Amino acid sequence: MLRLSEIKLPLNHTPEELPAAILKKLGVPASDLHGFTIFLRSYDARKKHNILLTYTLDIDVENEAALLKRFHDDRHVKPTPDTEYKFVAQAPGNLAKRPIVIGTGPCGLFAGLVLAQMGFKPIILERGKAVRERTKDTWGLWRKRVLNPESNVQFGEGGAGTFSDGKLYSQIKDPKHYGEKVLKEFVLAGAPEEILYVSKPHIGTFRLVGMVEVMRDTITKLGGEVRFSSKVETLQRENGQITGVTLANGEHIEADHVVLAIGHSARDTFQMLHDQGVFMEAKPFSVGFRIEHPQSLIDKARFGPNAGHPILGAADYKLVHHASNGRSVYSFCMCPGGTVVAATSEPNRVVTNGMSQYSRNERNANAGIVVGISPEQDYPEHVLAGVDFQRALESRAFELGGGDYSAPGQLVGDFIAGKASTAFGSVLPSYTPGVHLTDLATALPDFAITAIREALPAFDKTIKGYGMHDAVLTGVETRTSSPIRIKRDNETLQSINTKGLFPAGEGAGYAGGILSAGVDGIKIAEAVALSIMSQG
Ligand code: FAD
Repeated sequence: MLRLSEIKLPLNHTPEELPAAILKKLGVPASDLHGFTIFLRSYDARKKHNILLTYTLDIDVENEAALLKRFHDDRHVKPTPDTEYKFVAQAPGNLAKRPIVIGTGPCGLFAGLVLAQMGFKPIILERGKAVRERTKDTWGLWRKRVLNPESNVQFGEGGAGTFSDGKLYSQIKDPKHYGEKVLKEFVLAGAPEEILYVSKPHIGTFRLVGMVEVMRDTITKLGGEVRFSSKVETLQRENGQITGVTLANGEHIEADHVVLAIGHSARDTFQMLHDQGVFMEAKPFSVGFRIEHPQSLIDKARFGPNAGHPILGAADYKLVHHASNGRSVYSFCMCPGGTVVAATSEPNRVVTNGMSQYSRNERNANAGIVVGISPEQDYPEHVLAGVDFQRALESRAFELGGGDYSAPGQLVGDFIAGKASTAFGSVLPSYTPGVHLTDLATALPDFAITAIREALPAFDKTIKGYGMHDAVLTGVETRTSSPIRIKRDNETLQSINTKGLFPAGEGAGYAGGILSAGVDGIKIAEAVALSIMSQG
């Protein structure tokens, strides 16, 4: 197979134009082309009136060797690389102790799946409930203002990304193509095939719920075990080596390999690990608000007359502003055609985040507008001071929202002018159970408010209308990434002071989204397998 890149065609090209472009590029007759598949399709919307689709194609063509020779100077004609995933080990028949994976977010699921595929029969422990029951609990907060601290947007089967936009792209370096393995497993579990080739794939919430169940079934059929309502409350260690875990119900499970894929919101577990002496350090994260605009405004700004084109879908955006007070303000987890969701896992706190369905056809676009903060500057007191910082803001948001899980909100025009909002305008916020209009000036530290006030009009220069008076801000956005890093050794991927403990994914500070968490899960599964095999 040959891989052809940078084949550009107009947005409205016909199906026949694609093979025609291949023949033209290679200068071969139609009879030489046996077939092709799309490896990647992206768009170039810099010229709104002339949006182009850019393809990378894998083609089956006559006389490959001669063509490669003829195009040896052309970096857009190369042999298709072998990116097929290859397992690093196969478990022995007499496996003495099964590895444990804590957490069933994308990191834990992929660590568990790959360990199961290699025959290591992992025991996967999840504090929350199975995904269907969890969905009911999550809706309990959204509809009835009732929070279940063990089963919510953050905790339960599928992890934090289950009720999300399901964006599946990441900027991580991935020389071993683990991202491709993640996407292929998602397709096997029911994701649309297009995630394998569109440049910014997404899945949406409803499909994710079903996919997570299929992946659990696969793990179970391979001899793994997934246990819900099984919160790990302590670790056992002897001479710096992990020997097992104890659950909240008192049950003890022996293991000398434990994957810690607990996500960024397991604050009680962070505290337990800290108290037990597992090495961790504070790390930077971001805080801010969610902003909502009409999706049509974003589509028009990005795609002009092509707004609404089915191939382009609902438009996204990415914005950054370096404020004069030295802080950076940026858009985070943008959800086209989605809704803002209540994402707290702790009582009497309010946290916002965003999600969407696969169709992305809700009326509003939403995104976090967040300000970068760092331990040295903003929470230097102790390793877990970032958690205290988050909690203080989330409690303040609960208070400003009226104390019933409504989010505090303000219109952008009023926020910039520094006056409380009293009525919604043309944009109706989507957050449930409700939005309480107020003045958000005290919802974040002054430096963050000043930086966001400066950034919103600046963003209007990139996306016309972004600073519109009626756009709505809700808050607070605090769970952007983990406030700590549970440090691991670069070679063995084990905790630097607890042998057999493998910190992984977003909570440990090694991922920042669904795809990167899944990729880290695969890396960790390999490290666990190799460690078990090395023990003979
Ligand atoms: P998590 O998914 O957080 O999973 C950790 C799991 O561990 C949880 O299920 C938790 O219950 C369990 N756990 C914690 N402590 C214990 C314990 N002591 N014992 C047993 N189990 C425990 N990312 C994207 O890439 N695209 C998106 O579109 C996107 N949208 C998002 C929308 C929302 C509303 C949210 C909240 C997040 C979104 N994210 C998105 C971020 C993404 O979900 C996370 O980056 C990802 O889930 C991290 O994966 P993880 O496996 O490391 O941790």
